[in-house]
Amino acid sequence: MAAGARLVVLGKQGAGKGTQCLSLSHHYVVTHVSTGDMLREAVKQGTPLGRKAKELMDRGELLGDDLIMEMVSTRLAESDTKDRGFILDGCPRTVDQARMLTDWLAPFDLDLVIDIEVPTSQVLRRLASRRVCVDCGANYSLTARPMIGWTCDVCGGEVVQREDDTEEAISRRLEIYELQTAPLIDWYQARGQLAQVSGTGSPEAVTKRIVRAIEDTRNRKGGRFS
Ligand code: AMP
Repeated sequence: MAAGARLVVLGKQGAGKGTQCLSLSHHYVVTHVSTGDMLREAVKQGTPLGRKAKELMDRGELLGDDLIMEMVSTRLAESDTKDRGFILDGCPRTVDQARMLTDWLAPFDLDLVIDIEVPTSQVLRRLASRRVCVDCGANYSLTARPMIGWTCDVCGGEVVQREDDTEEAISRRLEIYELQTAPLIDWYQARGQLAQVSGTGSPEAVTKRIVRAIEDTRNRKGGRFS
């Protein structure tokens, strides 16, 4: 089994983060922690967090840093992520969240932050076509449909368009990405923790590029992560 790792995956909405995180979680046998999936589950369950989150999520706005980091740190304190690591998807999304995450992880740190780069014209096309399973979050598209109707191949759940994949919410999310999340690229670069990987081409080709970047980093660190 590949050794574990503590990873963050960054990228615009539609860059393929969800698909890549799933492949990486299988490859490294570490838990995929997606803040978007956790929040969508809270909305579905109708919890107080879900009720608070729904309106902001539908508009494409971000939730508060403290609230997100409380949710994430509670999840990262569980034994699976403590033992083997994690792949964090959708968090951090602001420099303040990144600072809070670094403080929380101390004395350890992230092993690597991967930025998946895809041109905006391409993510817009992908988002318009994206469909997801309401139960397990598996990703599909108008051109890569489930085998039977709109029923998830993985769990049999219903496959639908995300409520925040409207034209208005998509453009707001991309605007927020540029304003609040893109500065994280320089922030992690300055700390020597960033690898930038092209997200164009087949999902398998992108996974190979990411695994190579992770293993190159591990080798540079003498074959071991923290
Ligand atoms: P995602 O599935 O990652 O695109 O997240 C869906 C929505 O959940 C976002 O548009 C935000 O409203 C909210 N969200 C997810 N992660 C975060 C985060 N780290 N900080 C603030 N809001 C978040």
